[in-house]
Amino acid sequence: MKTRIYKILKHTKVEGPGKRYCIWFQGCSRHCEGCWAKATWDFNGGTLYDTKEIVNDILLQKGIEGVTFLGGEPFEQPESLEYIAKEVKKAGLSIICFTGNQIEEIEYKYKNILKYIDILIDGEYQENKKNYSRPWVGSSNQKYHFLTNRYNEEEIKKYKNKIEVNIEKNGMIFINGMGDFEKISEMLNMPQSH
Ligand code: SF4
Repeated sequence: MKTRIYKILKHTKVEGPGKRYCIWFQGCSRHCEGCWAKATWDFNGGTLYDTKEIVNDILLQKGIEGVTFLGGEPFEQPESLEYIAKEVKKAGLSIICFTGNQIEEIEYKYKNILKYIDILIDGEYQENKKNYSRPWVGSSNQKYHFLTNRYNEEEIKKYKNKIEVNIEKNGMIFINGMGDFEKISEMLNMPQSH
């Protein structure tokens, strides 16, 4: 099985609790106004990875608390998402997943995947509800759903929104985390990459 991926970060501390392996799926049909991840929209973009190799790579990482799935839209590649989530959960790692869908739609179509997810963060980014006061999310309509006992609402309050700036081997800058990307890009005098 192949999975189309926009970006993988093997270690990040700004996309959920603890140190995490982070996967941005490629492809999103929603096209929300103000989306800062437009580069993830194209279903023919990104890079095709062997899905088993992604899992093997995750399991090789030392000291990670879990995996975070973002996009793009992870549920637009449901077979890959289910396979990776299942294998990661077997290894005792936690799973955070972002989706532009509402949880009711996911429950209806993808119950088989939901059972592996510890926190589902649902709802598309809405520019007119921009709000960075809660961890990892950018607009006030987005909701955290604690689907297992691993995390809870009280516990995640200790996390603040932060960004990381990664300088790639090819000299490109990749910014991740949550914050006002427009302002950050202006400050760094660079085009937005997230
Ligand atoms: S669902 Fe997320 S990735 Fe897709 S367009 Fe909306 S904000 Fe962008």
